Amino acid sequence: MVHLKSEREVDLLREAALLVSRTLAVVAARVQPGATTRELDSIAEEFIRDHGAVPAFKGYKVGSVVFPATLCTSVNDAVVHGIPDDQPLKECDLLSVDCGVVLDGYVGDSAYTFAVGELSEDDRQLCTTTYQALEAGVAQAVAGNRTGDIGFAVQSLCEARGYGVVKDLVGHGVGRNLHEDPQIPNFGRRGTGRKLKSGLTICIEPMINRGGAAVRTESDGWTIRTADSLPSAHYEKTVVVRQDRPEVLTDFSIIEAALSYVPYGAVAGLNDS
Ligand code: MG
Ligand code: MG
Repeated sequence: MVHLKSEREVDLLREAALLVSRTLAVVAARVQPGATTRELDSIAEEFIRDHGAVPAFKGYKVGSVVFPATLCTSVNDAVVHGIPDDQPLKECDLLSVDCGVVLDGYVGDSAYTFAVGELSEDDRQLCTTTYQALEAGVAQAVAGNRTGDIGFAVQSLCEARGYGVVKDLVGHGVGRNLHEDPQIPNFGRRGTGRKLKSGLTICIEPMINRGGAAVRTESDGWTIRTADSLPSAHYEKTVVVRQDRPEVLTDFSIIEAALSYVPYGAVAGLNDS
């Protein structure tokens, strides 16, 4: 069932989304060769709790498996749902960090892919395309469009450049719950799928692979990796569908202000879209 939000609920979701952006900015400032994802996870958890919220992923269950951490930290060929550990990050690693919080009963959820040191040209282009695909998807989050319009925008941009679009995992509605209806696939045909209505709040989150689209789940029960072991990137924003425009609740500019190296061409222009 799809729940359209009141303006009061949107205000609460905006506060939760901003806390996630601020948390990711704190993490961004600490991403460097030698840092461990477990250290980043503790910093994020402390920041979230200091701001009166709780981590949304820690203790999250799928069947009988429980996610053990505040952040999902997915390095290189890990697409999403990586578990923080003690392995030091290395120069040229691609680190996707997904963060969720519950603040005053409402969920914030956003992800950003960071460069550890300098990226290879191939990985830089992967990030740029994934970032642009997110913006293209967000631009379709307007009342009267359908979920397939978002998926088509993401898929067509990425596949035209030869990237693999992950289809096993999708974006989602968000509100009091982390995952609400409708699903927001990163693929689709224009004019198909659920119709978007004003007040719908969704997370759009392309997961894009440098190689093929196929993924597999690691034996830890969580980490999703590319089947061909090539790197993957992931960005996620929370958006309110409005009558004539999308309203983005996530603020990447807070994160990017904390970065020493932004591996994208025209980030400011993209953020303005
Ligand atoms: Mg997320
Ligand atoms: Mg999400």
